[in-house]
Amino acid sequence: MFYETIRHAGGASEGGASESHALMLLRRAQNRGFGAEATLNGGASIRWTRTDLTTRKSVPRSITLTPETPIGILSDATRARLSLIGLGDARHVLTADSRHIVAGDTVIPMGETARLRARRLVAVDSQGRVRLTLAARLGLLAHDHIQIGGPGGFAMCSCGLTTNARTVLAADDVLRGHRRAVTARFVESIDAAYAAVISSR
Ligand SMILES: [Zn+2]
Repeated sequence: MFYETIRHAGGASEGGASESHALMLLRRAQNRGFGAEATLNGGASIRWTRTDLTTRKSVPRSITLTPETPIGILSDATRARLSLIGLGDARHVLTADSRHIVAGDTVIPMGETARLRARRLVAVDSQGRVRLTLAARLGLLAHDHIQIGGPGGFAMCSCGLTTNARTVLAADDVLRGHRRAVTARFVESIDAAYAAVISSR
C-alpha cells in the first residue's frame, strides 16, 4: 500500500493507493510523457505541468507515492537477497521449526525472512510464491542511482554516470533527467505477469 499525494490548483489531496493503482499511475505518467522518479523510500514522484486555461500559464502538478512502510536503508546483504528474490521462483518454505525463503540455491534464514516480510520488501502469496513488492523494486532502483555532488557543475550518479555541466543546477537537471530515464525503463520493464500478480491481491 502507498499513500498518494496529489498537488493541484486547490492545494493537495491525500489518499491510499494499492500497488496496482500505483503501477497504473506510473504507466499513465509514462504514456503521457510525464517525469517520474523512483525515490529512496520505495515510492515515486511524478511531475508535469499543465496550462491554465484562463491565464495561459503553465502550472506545476505532481503526484507523490509514499509506501505505507518506507523501505529505509538497504544494506548490501539485503540488496543481494532482494536481487536474488527478484530473479523469480523464490518460495516461502514452512517446516515444523522454520519459515524461510528459498531463492535459487540460497536459503534466507528465518530471522532475515521475517525481517524482509515485516519491512514489506517481499510479499508471499497463498501458494508460497515470493515476490518483491513494488516499493522494494522502486527503492532498489533509487539506491542504484544516488546523486553525489562534486565541485562546481560536476556531479556523479552512484551507477557511474558523470556530468560536467556549467552550473550546479544544470548538473542537477542532467542527473534528474537520467533518473527519470532509468525509472521510465523500469516501468516499461514491468511485465504483465507481475502486474497481474499485484492486481490479484
Ligand atoms: Zn545512475
